[in-house]
Amino acid sequence: MDIATPLRPRLPSPVRDVVDPWLADRGVALRLKRDDLIHPLVPGNKWRKLTPNLRAAVERGHTRLLTFGGAYSNHIRAVAAAGAAYGLSTVGIIRGDELADAPRNWSLTRAEDHGMELAFVSRSAYRETLRGLSEDDTGTLRGLEERWGRAYVLPEGGTNVLAAHGAAQLVAELPDLGPGDVVCCAVGTGGTLAGIAAALPAGARAVGFAVLKGAEGYLDGEVAELHRRGWGRAFGNWHIDHGYHGGGYGRVPAELEAFAARFEERHGVRVERRYVAKMLWGVHGLAERGELPPGSRVTALITGPPDPKPEPEREGNGGGPGRAARGGG
Ligand SMILES: *Cc1c(COP(=O)(O)O)cnc(C)c1O
Repeated sequence: MDIATPLRPRLPSPVRDVVDPWLADRGVALRLKRDDLIHPLVPGNKWRKLTPNLRAAVERGHTRLLTFGGAYSNHIRAVAAAGAAYGLSTVGIIRGDELADAPRNWSLTRAEDHGMELAFVSRSAYRETLRGLSEDDTGTLRGLEERWGRAYVLPEGGTNVLAAHGAAQLVAELPDLGPGDVVCCAVGTGGTLAGIAAALPAGARAVGFAVLKGAEGYLDGEVAELHRRGWGRAFGNWHIDHGYHGGGYGRVPAELEAFAARFEERHGVRVERRYVAKMLWGVHGLAERGELPPGSRVTALITGPPDPKPEPEREGNGGGPGRAARGGG
């Protein structure tokens, strides 16, 4: 089975130069690597990271994917859509048991529309399960399989060694990289950054911008661990900047919102706020502080598209009587 066929990705993803006089004054060139355009339902780094895992799941004879995420997880939606495309059933373990009886938000609705079965668990049970999986605890795995049957288990955010290798492939689509090049991306779990750094040619660097607050040390350790397990070595060509999370995951302070809106207006691209806006904000911050030497070329990885605009109509239409009666999410 050709794993790439059912999803019909747009690859290589387009690269677009950005004309930005403010950056040009500082000797910095900027271009966007539009991974957000790879696929409408499995976009960006989710396509890069999931594809090798889908192939592994099919090769090992799995018929079901099981994974984890929060109420608005891009990963959850991507797994639901990718699983449906490959004829694999999908289970999403969702953090927060209070969500079980709440009206479904747009993101979980989409996952269910692709046939994903959702299971809502308390934050503590969620954390315990993820801890067990990361420590290869056999009891945790057995518990999941007793409940859900045999399944290919993808960690939260979809990051594992295969995923990092998938992300690494985007560097092959940038054959002109070399000294003076800086590839920038947002960092949630670090899988994307790990893959990019491992694949860069000599002299190029990778900078990741953490979207979570208080992840200093932890995230850096995750990336280093992926390098150790996936490539058997360390890389010294990357770092994570923790100065642009805007107060934490999902937080978009007014200053960041203003930056993103200005960027959209000037450059005619819509900017996803939870990850991409923070990364672009960070790039400008580096230039402002003179941390990008004149002559640098930044390739900013657009890892995903913006969330859909709220659709107030939808609640009353396709949501079913239960959802409509309970109102907005
Ligand atoms: C999931 C996601 C990320 C985070 O990627 P990691 O590999 O987990 O660091 C970044 N940007 C977007 C748009 C995402 O959906």
